[in-house]
Amino acid sequence: MTVKYDDSMPVPAKMKAWVLGDPDELKLIDKEVPAPGRAEALVRIDAVAICATDLEIISYGTPAMFEGGPPFNKNFTPGHEYMGTIAALGPGVDEFEIGDRVTVEIHAGCGQCKRCRSGMYTSCHNYGLNYGDRDKGHRANGFTTNGGFAEYAVNNINTMIKVPDQMSDAEATLVVTAGTSMYGLTELGGLVAGESVVVIGPGPIGLLAVAVAKSLGADPVVLVGTRENRNRIGKELGADVTIDARNEDALARVKELTGGKGADYVVDCAGSETTVNQAIHMTNRGGKVCLAAFPKKPVEFDLGHLAVNNIYLYGIRGEGKSATHRAMAFMADKRFDATKVHTHTFPMHDLPNALKHARERIDDAIKVVVSMRENSAESSAAE
Ligand SMILES: [Zn+2]
Ligand SMILES: [Zn+2]
Repeated sequence: MTVKYDDSMPVPAKMKAWVLGDPDELKLIDKEVPAPGRAEALVRIDAVAICATDLEIISYGTPAMFEGGPPFNKNFTPGHEYMGTIAALGPGVDEFEIGDRVTVEIHAGCGQCKRCRSGMYTSCHNYGLNYGDRDKGHRANGFTTNGGFAEYAVNNINTMIKVPDQMSDAEATLVVTAGTSMYGLTELGGLVAGESVVVIGPGPIGLLAVAVAKSLGADPVVLVGTRENRNRIGKELGADVTIDARNEDALARVKELTGGKGADYVVDCAGSETTVNQAIHMTNRGGKVCLAAFPKKPVEFDLGHLAVNNIYLYGIRGEGKSATHRAMAFMADKRFDATKVHTHTFPMHDLPNALKHARERIDDAIKVVVSMRENSAESSAAE
């Protein structure tokens, strides 16, 4: 059983890869190109988007966990929202061919724990156990295994989705973000056609949650944000109503829009104490709240209101239950234009500058994409 290579995609022995040193220290080094194992392929990375979670990992380590601990000074490569071209196939892999363009999901669960067995592989009970003799086969590239700020990465076949020819590299990097939004709505029950959905927080996941909710037939879809330009993009992606939380009482407005009852579903993509409480009070009796952001500190919230009104609260992590495949189906069918959240592109060698734009939201940056192609524009505008 050997790895399959092809002359059409020559694979070098070494590659350029960014690795994490101390917190906030990234270095570009030469690394061995990894070899795919059983049920894996080697992906030549063509583009990678920057996520708020990458910024968190680079500064604080969490939620990454590499070789059983913090990811610092272990030659760990972050980056998880990438796409590319299959360059080699592990033993026995016939689901893909060398040369296929693919985009990736982050999490390949172990496939053997009770959560993986029910499709909840982003909540795998063997998270991070894939090193030394604790090899459970779990991967979360850019979290527990090496990720996409490099020229090549290994992916489990379950984490790859073919990209249609007409979809650009940059757009393909956004499929996993839309997949996360899709997973949130999936966990809330999925059948949101004709139901009211409020999304709080117009970051990439929030904006694409608007797009996915609208594509699933939700009505009305309401976006609550504090940045006018982001609310405008939310409108373009399908929000029926946008609320500027700086100038309007968001709770009163949602009540007014829903006949005084509140919304059937509220997705909180901001994760602050204010928004968690808004979400709970905006939801109607028996409705559902999805927490799609990770609050950094314990938050105080109105648990009594939640219980007495039979409101359900869901925490979601990542993009489980093949939600990314459903997101790709919508995007391939052009149900919404995810590229509206893509604002900047940088070449790979300029990753620190790309991260700075994402972190400081320079020029209203929303989604910053790093392209591995030599001729990629330096700091170009939105496509
Ligand atoms: Zn991400
Ligand atoms: Zn598992």
